[in-house]
Amino acid sequence: MTREFYDSSEEDDMDSPYQVDAEAAVLTRPPRDMHNKCCGGKAWCIKDICGIICAMLTWFLILYAEFVVTMVMLVPHAARHPLYSWANMALFQTLAFLAFASHLRTMFTDPGAVPKGNATKEVIKQMTFREGQVIFKCTKCCSIKPERAHHCSVCQRCIRKMDHHCPWVNNCVGENNQKYFVLFTFYIAAISIHSLTLSVCQLVTCIREEWRECGAYSPPATVVLLLFLIAEALLFAIFTAVMLATQLHAIWHDETGIEQLKKEKAKEQARWVRKSRWKSIQNVFGRFSIFWLSPFTQPSPKTKLDSFLYSV
Ligand SMILES: [Zn+2]
Ligand SMILES: [Zn+2]
Repeated sequence: MTREFYDSSEEDDMDSPYQVDAEAAVLTRPPRDMHNKCCGGKAWCIKDICGIICAMLTWFLILYAEFVVTMVMLVPHAARHPLYSWANMALFQTLAFLAFASHLRTMFTDPGAVPKGNATKEVIKQMTFREGQVIFKCTKCCSIKPERAHHCSVCQRCIRKMDHHCPWVNNCVGENNQKYFVLFTFYIAAISIHSLTLSVCQLVTCIREEWRECGAYSPPATVVLLLFLIAEALLFAIFTAVMLATQLHAIWHDETGIEQLKKEKAKEQARWVRKSRWKSIQNVFGRFSIFWLSPFTQPSPKTKLDSFLYSV
């Protein structure tokens, strides 16, 4: 594709690449790519049974924590300690809602899939490259592989700035959804630490008061529910805190998980987008820091060069 054919209005239409009709020498649209799509092609969705089960298990575990925190710990004590109960309720519900929203955003956002089958001779001929520039072709999905893209065997697509494929969100973590994934780990770590603190306080209080007015359920049932929540919260607090630290480290150094594993420095051509660490952080979380913790705002738009390369 030459620069004359570049149409900036198509920047985000990743799955509608132009192809050259060699006979007529005009640009025509191929049929809409419905791979990894659902809801009539509107939403990105990976049809992987293992990932779907893990994602549903995540929802179940969030709902379980919701149930124990609300019905076992806070509501039964609302009459005796209203401020403690309602303040903790508001905090937990807010964090749980944001964790759930971040999970859905990570799961149903296109992580940065490269258009499938665009590595045709005609398309490559039409592209303009810098002198000496090497282009890579993915033989598995027959696409022109941009810098820092990697092929995911679960998504069956090349993903820009692929970090890893996470079964817990049933999606790849890549350029377009890394922010949501980081927020997901952050909010899950937050509700895990919060529910862990509440559970331990509840257990200690119940034992000290010899289970008088300790909850709506019998002492054995309360103990089982609390112990299970403590185990879940402890496990996920550690897991998500480690994952969050790893992600923040990767963003700070502008390296993906795969690049860290391969000890592969991002290539020279990608360096122009890495002017500073601040820029690297903005690439993931967006330009305005006020929205960094919101799973409802999109990260910064792709750069002109990116759009040029990927819209082919
Ligand atoms: Zn590929
Ligand atoms: Zn994947």
